[in-house]
Formats: sequence, structure tokens, C-alpha cells
Amino acid sequence: MENYDDIIALSERYNIHAEYASADFYPRFRSRMQGLRLLLLSDENTVRYAAPLQQKLCEAGLDAHGFTLPFYEPVADEKTCALLSERLSDFDYVLAVGAGTLNDIAKYTTFHAGKKCGVLATAASMDGFTSGVTPLIKKGFKITENAQTVSDILIDFDILCAAPKIMTGAGTGDILAKFCCLTDWKMSHLLTGESYSEESASLMRVALEKCYQNTDSICACGREGIDDLLRALLISGYAMVIAGNSRPASGAEHHMSHFLEMDFLKRGKPIPLHGIKVGLGTLVSLRMYKRILEKDLSFEGQEIVARLAAPLPSPEEVARILHAMGCPTRFSQIGVSKDTVRDMLFNCYKIRDRFTIMTLYNKYGLMKGAADELMDLYY
Ligand SMILES: [Zn+2]
Repeated sequence: MENYDDIIALSERYNIHAEYASADFYPRFRSRMQGLRLLLLSDENTVRYAAPLQQKLCEAGLDAHGFTLPFYEPVADEKTCALLSERLSDFDYVLAVGAGTLNDIAKYTTFHAGKKCGVLATAASMDGFTSGVTPLIKKGFKITENAQTVSDILIDFDILCAAPKIMTGAGTGDILAKFCCLTDWKMSHLLTGESYSEESASLMRVALEKCYQNTDSICACGREGIDDLLRALLISGYAMVIAGNSRPASGAEHHMSHFLEMDFLKRGKPIPLHGIKVGLGTLVSLRMYKRILEKDLSFEGQEIVARLAAPLPSPEEVARILHAMGCPTRFSQIGVSKDTVRDMLFNCYKIRDRFTIMTLYNKYGLMKGAADELMDLYY
């Protein structure tokens, strides 16, 4: 029997009740839900997990109802949130049975309705489980809205290990990205004096290294690997709370992802999974760091950046892992144009006033010499 006490205790510190599936059927969650009117939110994909859960909760004497959004891939926009909002008056608590999008919809709508929410994670696909903000699409634009953190997270490895491999691949991309996020952050600290939290960074780094050492099990969707991956995804949220911002979990690779997302929205095309775009951005960021070791580039702080770049994994190794997870390793595979990707290399750093390897390349005019190489490697 595995021991999850450490992650349960860590979650508790941030007021999140984490509970792992047991033969006893979530006894602590059940007692927390006593007397509440509970709504289980699912979509066409996850209703197969929500329906039996609802039945079991009812058998255990809880007042649990189900609501399935009529989509296979819901989008967290005003329209979908409204579908849930309309039903909320009859309920005290929403349990999202899903991953990124359903969790976002539940966090956002319950926050505005003054109710609580939780999640039964159906895929280790992104790191937003424990975050208090929610990406939403409003009037065709992706924005980040205040929401609340979930009160409860229910974890069942039978479900997580059976998730579509591409979703686990997306989660892997979102975690491997932390190599770049942490390096961008440290670099900014050393070059610009931005504040830096050793506690936050090392919490994230330890969880990341554990995953990196266990990628074979993650690729095989093995229980041990998925456990490490989910831990890292949860810890990412806690690292952000400690840092007071998203620095430990988001760097240039996330800016690349956001830049591409706006292009997909503009064209009215479905947006690829967050971690897939972030994984691609991670390859670009890693290559940009490694170039600094290989080329004779001169800019202020070159030695510092080279020192930070040295221990990073090679982009080839990360590409190998992403490929093994069924994730794209070239931007052309996700249906964006060459022009958009080139535009991204020169302009995505403007999305946020945050110093990253992208800012550095553009600030010192290094992108001109790097863009063709990056396009050849990753478009
Ligand atoms: Zn992310």
C-alpha cells in the first residue's frame, strides 16, 4: 500500500483536501459532504466515471445529482459556464469529474455563486488542479480570471492510468516545461533582480526531477509514474502559492503557448491541449538555452546564462519523451502556419512583462541569428 501522507499533508497546508481512492470509498470526502446538495459535473467523455460515482455517493446516503455537459470537448467560455450557473441555485457544491476544462468551469462558476467545488481528476493532464485562477475564453479572447481553489481533490489511479495517453502526455509536457520556467525565473533573479523564492523553486524542482527520472513509467502510464506526475502537477500549484505568482510554473514556453492559442482563437479552430503547446515551447526554450553554450554569443550576463543552461536536459531527450507519449515535437503537427510560429519567436515575449529566455534573445538581437535554426528544428 502506497503512502500518500506527504502530499495529503502538503495539500492540507493549502486548504485542499486530497484523498486517494480506497476500498472504503473516499470516507473523508463523504463525511465532508454530509448535508450538502452535491452536483457532479461531467461531459460526454467523463460521464462514465461520474455516473457510477454519483450512484455510490447516493447509496452512501449523500444527496448527489449529476449534470453532463452535452459536449465531448467542452470549452471554458461564457456559454458553457452559463449552462452550469443556471443549475447552481439548487446545489451547495460542485464536484467536477474531469481535468482541465471541467475543473476550470466549476472553479469559476462556483466562485461567483459563493459555493464550493472539488474535482475527481480523470487525467494527469495539466497543473491547474490546485490553482486559484482560471483561464477562460471571453468574447473570443483567452483571459485569466480569478476563481477559487478546489476544496477537495479525489484521486483514483485506475482512472488516471486509463486516461487517453495524449492527456498524460500533455501533463508530462506541462511538467517538463518546469525545467525552463525555473531557469527563466532564476535567470531573471540574477540578471534583473526579480524576487525569487528558493522554497518554491526547490519544491517544484524536486517533484520535477522525480518525474524526469521516472519517465519510462510515465510513458507506460504505470501507476508509479502517474503518481509522480500527478504529485508534480499538484505541487506546481502550491509552488505558485508560495511564490505569490506563476513564476515556478510558467516561463517563455507558456508565453509561446498563449501566443499560439490566440492564433487558434482568431481562426476559430479548436485549441490543442495546453501541455502539448507548452511541450513544444519547452523544446524551443531548451534549444535557446543550449545555443548559448555552443555559440560565441556576446551579451551582458552571458556567463550567468551559460551556467544555468549547462545542467538543463537536452531538447533531443525531452523530444524523445514527448514523442513516446504521442505528443507532437514540431509545430507543423498542430496546424499552425510557419508565419505564425516565426512571429511567435519574435513577439511572444511581449505577452507578459516577464524576463525569460525569449526576452533575452529579443532584447539582445539574438533571435535574428536563431530563428532559422529553431524553425528548421521545430516547425
Ligand atoms: Zn501550464
